[in-house]
Amino acid sequence: MKPAPFGYAKAKSLDHAIALLAEHADCRLLAGGQSLMATLNMRLSAPALLIDINALDDLGRISLDGDTLEIGALVRHAGAERSPEISRHAPLIALALPHIAHPAIRNRGTIGGSIAFADPAAELPACLLALGGEVAITNATGTRRVAADDFFTGLFETALGTGDILTAIHLPAARADSRYGFAELARRHGDYALVGLAASARAEGKHLKDVRLAFFGIDATPVRAHGAEAALERGEDAVAALARDLEPDGDIQVSAAAKRHLAGVLLGRVAKQLGEPRQLGEPRP
Ligand code: FAD
Repeated sequence: MKPAPFGYAKAKSLDHAIALLAEHADCRLLAGGQSLMATLNMRLSAPALLIDINALDDLGRISLDGDTLEIGALVRHAGAERSPEISRHAPLIALALPHIAHPAIRNRGTIGGSIAFADPAAELPACLLALGGEVAITNATGTRRVAADDFFTGLFETALGTGDILTAIHLPAARADSRYGFAELARRHGDYALVGLAASARAEGKHLKDVRLAFFGIDATPVRAHGAEAALERGEDAVAALARDLEPDGDIQVSAAAKRHLAGVLLGRVAKQLGEPRQLGEPRP
């Protein structure tokens, strides 16, 4: 199918993009286009104007500021995969990236586009939640930061409102005691996950602290499993605790019961990874 007719404007700067957003009520930002163009072609959305933000070079940077890694919204998945900063300071993101689609899509798709699109089966929203990161959002009145726990509000819905641009994500940089785990089940490598799990924790001797488990493909948004997190911290049976955390909806591919079972399998794998020292990059002192 072909998209409905739409106008096109190329933003020259962040201020210009914000002005265009304020001027045109019925518009969409165009980043990598890997999800947006599909929704236009399927006529799931028909905005009057696309505002192309690809020339906003300032949104393509990765930088470390103290204990926080900032990843600009326009960093492409492929660029993030090659980034030594991400490998070193955000190894969970590095673990997740190869599971996103395939190279042609990762060459264009952006970190900001993935987070803003908020597909419930996508890897990066769950990683952001597992890391306890924040999203930086700019509009005509200024910039605000929203915690990942508050950002994903419903199916393909987020805290982004009219006139907002997601400019970056902020992640706590990995430390020597940081531990990460990632696993997903998909029909083929690169497909959206049937069920997935991103996790972070801190090692204290033989114990895990500050465990954050974020499941994806389970609900309308990535979801924390608070009972299983507490069980892992206490060294108890986390898979048993998980049964009370998750209320998966079945879908056309997997029943709710199968999702529950698969979530437990993934938790077993990820719990093992959390118990092992990091393998990617060098830990920060
Ligand atoms: P776009 O398509 O340009 O935009 C998506 C939406 O986000 C639009 O509504 C747009 O207006 C909005 N948006 C974009 N940037 C911003 C911003 N900075 N501020 C505010 N709003 C913004 N993704 C996965 O996670 N896992 C997969 O396994 C996976 N498989 C895929 C397989 C196929 C065949 C395809 C085509 C895509 C797949 N994707 C997958 C999606 C891919 O990761 C996309 O790149 C990503 O979801 C959207 O990023 P984008 O930069 O292309 O955003």
